[in-house]
Amino acid sequence: MYVYVCFDVEDLVHPGSDDVALDIAKALSEDDVTAMMCVVGEKARLWEQRGRDDVIAAVGKHDVGLHTNRHSIHPTIAEYLADKGWDDGVAEAVHQEGPGARDLTRILGMPPSTWGTPGSSW
Ligand SMILES: [Zn+2]
Repeated sequence: MYVYVCFDVEDLVHPGSDDVALDIAKALSEDDVTAMMCVVGEKARLWEQRGRDDVIAAVGKHDVGLHTNRHSIHPTIAEYLADKGWDDGVAEAVHQEGPGARDLTRILGMPPSTWGTPGSSW
């Protein structure tokens, strides 16, 4: 049996949520479970600014996905893609989300394996 374990790491408002990501990442690692941690680019930058090397190290032991660069901060994905077709939409998504992918790679030491969008973004 295969089990897929995935967590959104997206609370940009409450610094206390950093410890939730830390606790989950550490507990799963202790049981040899690798999860998909879908991290918002801004959240990783906040960990870095707050000196949360413990959270970065714990989450970095898991598979990391980009849960957008800025999550619900406007413009959201639906807003910036609303008037776009395929080609210009792809270009706009790369423009908007690229900084998040680059910062996750720099901060967590690995490129994100996926782009996991917020629930109603599509
Ligand atoms: Zn989410």
